[in-house]
Amino acid sequence: MTDISPRSENVKVVVRVRPLSESEKTAGYKNVVKVDSVNNSIILRQQPNSGNSAGQSYSNVDRSFVFDSVFDQESSQMEVYNQAARPIVQNVLEGYNGTIFAYGQTGTGKTFTMEGNPQAPELRGIIPNSFAHIFGHIAKESERKKFLVRVSYLEIYNEEVRDLLSKNQSVHLEIKERPDVGVYVKDLSTYVVNNAEDMERIMTMGNKNRSVGATQMNIHSSRSHAIFTVAVECSEKAIDGNSTLHVGRLNLVDLAGSERQTKSGTSGLRLREASKINWSLSTLGNVISSLADGKASHVPYRNSKLTRLLQDSLGGNAKTLMCANIGPASFNFDETLNTLRYASRAK
Ligand code: ADP
Ligand code: MG
Repeated sequence: MTDISPRSENVKVVVRVRPLSESEKTAGYKNVVKVDSVNNSIILRQQPNSGNSAGQSYSNVDRSFVFDSVFDQESSQMEVYNQAARPIVQNVLEGYNGTIFAYGQTGTGKTFTMEGNPQAPELRGIIPNSFAHIFGHIAKESERKKFLVRVSYLEIYNEEVRDLLSKNQSVHLEIKERPDVGVYVKDLSTYVVNNAEDMERIMTMGNKNRSVGATQMNIHSSRSHAIFTVAVECSEKAIDGNSTLHVGRLNLVDLAGSERQTKSGTSGLRLREASKINWSLSTLGNVISSLADGKASHVPYRNSKLTRLLQDSLGGNAKTLMCANIGPASFNFDETLNTLRYASRAK
């Protein structure tokens, strides 16, 4: 056994920048983010009023961070899917596990990247595009292979697991482990789905049950991690008459907002929620960076519910994508810097 293994090809970190919003433009905020697609880097420009804001860490040097891919304001949903997500979904169809995370401050495009607008074909995000990819593959392969696709949808809120597809929302589910199945959530509902429309309907149903809380920063700032899981089971008959069976699991994760809580003026319950969110996001960063470094023997999965739950889908033959989302406005300089640091550490 050795600790010095090559960096894992199975962990990719990409950054996506959303456009300046109309209200940011109206308020006169400058764009402080530059995307260099040739070098896959993001340059965060120096803060123009450096030194004017007490207690903030502005400095007068530009900072540059390199990633596996970078997506600018104009990048389309399909480009993001094809470049970043498609290889992971393809791997799942071949029987391996995969996880796609959307990370970032509230309002930077996590949900846009993961779900987008399912009604408008060109605005569909990674989740609906992966549904189409999975059922497209099944349609092509169905003569030789049999498939069974099952989905579940849960949320981790305040370090408690809730089933987003169950009628009873107040029940907290337990995480269990068994040698034959690995880590699983006891009593979690699963639905067999036969086409992409089924999956979308179930996702929409689960979305209605997500926890939202009002903060000063964003009226419906998301305080929970949402995990949509698709298990693709495939059985194939070989020429000798024997069947092989393999299962790949795809986890699609819309993480809670990564923003520091001072900005939202939070206290009491909100502050306790926030410290749990910060804890689980930092544990996730530690897990991903130790996997990327190839130090699989020191992966701290057990430090949070999120990483514990995804343990079998992070590391080994599983592929992981972290899509860090940032906004371009000068107003968000500090949070953007935090996200870029987090993402480049994960790499
Ligand atoms: P989050 O889930 O991180 O809080 P959202 O996905 O809700 O953020 O995005 C915030 C707003 O910005 C939404 O109105 C969304 O449609 C818009 N938006 C985000 N990313 C993009 C993008 N790449 N292109 C156009 N609009 C975007
Ligand atoms: Mg969101």
